[in-house]
Amino acid sequence: HRSETVLDVQDVHVEFSGIIALDGVSFGIAQDEILGLIGPNGAGKTTLFNCLSRLYHPSRGDILLGGTSILQWPAHQIARAGIGRTFQNVALFGDLTVRDNISVGMHALTRGNLVSDALRLPMSRRTEARIRTETEELAELLEIADVLEVTAANLPFGTQKRVELARALASKPRILLMDEPAGGLNQEEVFLLGELMKRVRTEFKTSILLVEHHMGLVMSIADHVVALNFGKKLAEGTPAEIQAHPQVIEAYLGGG
Ligand code: ATP
Repeated sequence: HRSETVLDVQDVHVEFSGIIALDGVSFGIAQDEILGLIGPNGAGKTTLFNCLSRLYHPSRGDILLGGTSILQWPAHQIARAGIGRTFQNVALFGDLTVRDNISVGMHALTRGNLVSDALRLPMSRRTEARIRTETEELAELLEIADVLEVTAANLPFGTQKRVELARALASKPRILLMDEPAGGLNQEEVFLLGELMKRVRTEFKTSILLVEHHMGLVMSIADHVVALNFGKKLAEGTPAEIQAHPQVIEAYLGGG
């Protein structure tokens, strides 16, 4: 039994000059659930993410966050609407410290300013102290407290990924979109990331939508999995159900 949904994707269609990238996709994500979104190359996963980030606008269907359509929200306000994301390739401010990279996410939320201005503008001591404490708590949770003063570009890739996750969480999203977080990580780093994601879900009650090709990660941490193929939902269920699903097996192993 799954609890009430936080995010509802309803009958979403996206077409690019004749190519149907998403063809009536519907699913929901429950509160503090990790939902794995899988599918072969070209299945429509990135397109769906881009709809959720408001980079693409579906030609049909709706996307609801807490029961309210997000389709009228401008892309730059999507973080404030409660949707955070990480990217396939880390997108940190390389010349800033880990501390500043994380605080930027909080400033942007607190003040609604452009990220580029967030660190420069004056703020009250109380706000400053709160941001400091929250940054340190997040760093603790993601096991990067020892590198808070290190410049982001000087860190190993796996650590940068955790900094990016911390920054995405700094805006306290209700739902976090993670785009192929295991890409470029070694087995040990993938395992650690999976453990941290479970910790995030438990401690922050954040729902996570995970797009990932690393089946080991998806099947070990997802509560529920949606499989796409050619822009349509092929199947959904628990990891065990999905792994045993004949059409999912066919999509991955056969024909393509
Ligand atoms: P991958 O696992 O390789 O990232 P994916 O599941 O994320 O694949 P999408 O990138 O969403 O798949 O692509 C779905 C379909 O839409 C593909 O046929 C792709 O070529 C097409 N597509 C995606 N973005 C665009 C675009 N901006 N313009 C034209 N076609 C696009």
